[in-house]
Amino acid sequence: MAKPLFDRIAIIGIGLIGSSIAHAVRAQGLARHIAIADASEAHRSEAAALKLGDSVHGDAAEAAQDADLVMLCVPLGANAAVARHIAPALKAGAIVSDVGSCKQAVIRDVAPHLPKGVHLVPGHPVAGTEHSGPKAGFAALFQNRWCILTPEAGTDAAAVEKMKALWGAFGSKVELMEPRHHDLVLAITSHVPHLIAYNIVGTADDLEAVTESEVIKYSAGGFRDFTRIAASDPTMWRDVFLNNKEAVLEMLGRFTEDLIALQRSIRWGEGEQLFNLFTRTRTIRRAIIDAGQETAAPDFGRSAQTGTAAVTDPAKPKAG
Ligand code: NAP
Repeated sequence: MAKPLFDRIAIIGIGLIGSSIAHAVRAQGLARHIAIADASEAHRSEAAALKLGDSVHGDAAEAAQDADLVMLCVPLGANAAVARHIAPALKAGAIVSDVGSCKQAVIRDVAPHLPKGVHLVPGHPVAGTEHSGPKAGFAALFQNRWCILTPEAGTDAAAVEKMKALWGAFGSKVELMEPRHHDLVLAITSHVPHLIAYNIVGTADDLEAVTESEVIKYSAGGFRDFTRIAASDPTMWRDVFLNNKEAVLEMLGRFTEDLIALQRSIRWGEGEQLFNLFTRTRTIRRAIIDAGQETAAPDFGRSAQTGTAAVTDPAKPKAG
C-alpha cells in the first residue's frame, strides 16, 4: 500500500470517471479522506451505498473545503459554475485538476475563478466506457492507459509532479501536452470518430427502405461496433462538441475531403486507390495492437457468453 499522496481528495461528480478515481484512490491508499460531491441525489445515495468515499456532500464547496486536491469530474459544461462555487472554499496551496475531454475549454472556464496560490493542473485520462454513473466505475479503468496533463507554462512544478504521481499510481502512462495540441489530437482520435458513429447510427435509424428490425437483425461487425460508441453519454458528448468546436471542425474538413475522394473512387471504379488506402489503414490497426492499446482477439474481446463486453472489462476501453 502506497503512502497517502494527499490528506483529503475531493471528487466533484461521481459518475464513471469520478467513481473510477474513488476506487483507484481507495485501492492504492492514496488519500486519508475521500470527499465526494454530486448534484444528483440518486448518485449521492449510490456513492454512499458503494462506500466510494468517506463523506458525501450535496454542496461541492463543502467537499472542497480543506482538500489538498479537488478533482472536477463533471460534464465540461458544468466546470465554470462548479469552479466559481468552490473557489472561496479552496485552501492556499490546493491543487485543482479535472478529467475533461477538451483542455482549452477547461482552462478558459476554471482558471479565472481560482484564487491566487491554488494550482490548476488540467488532466485527461484517455480511458472510458460507454457507461455512466457511480456504478459504472472500476479501479482498473486507468491501468495501462494514457493520462494527458496540460498545465500552462509557469504552473507550480511540485503540483504537476504530484498529479503525475497520482496517475502513475493508478497505473496510467502520463504525458504532458500543450492544451491546444491535446484538443487537435483528441479531435481526430476520439471526437470525430464519435461523431461518425452517432451519424451512421442516426442515418440507419432514419432509413425508410430498411426497417429498424432489419438494422438490428443484420447488424454485422461494422455497424454493431458503431452502436457501442453511439451509446455514449449524450450530455458528455454534446459538451465535447460544444467545447472543442475549432479542432473538430478542422478535422471534419479534412475528413469530408477524403470521404469525397473515396466516393469518387467508387463512382469511377478506381479499385487500386481503394485497395491502397485499405492496405495503409490495416497497418495503423496493427500498430495500435502492438502498442497494447487494443486486443487482437477477432471478437474484439467480447465475452463469448454474453455477446457484449462486461462493464468491468478493462480490456475493452474507450477513450473520451
Ligand atoms: P457521468 O458518468 O455522467 O458523471 C458525471 C457526474 O457529474 C454525474 O453524476 C452528474 O450528475 C454529475 N454532475 C453534473 N453536473 C454537476 C454539478 N454541477 N455539480 C456536481 N455534480 C454534477 O460522466 P463521466 O463519463 O464520468 O464524465 C465526466 C467527465 O469525464 C467529462 O468531463 C468527460 O469529458 C470526461 N471523460 C469522460 C470519459 C468517458 O469515456 N466517459 C473519458 C475521459 C474523460 P447527473 O447525471 O445527475 O447530471
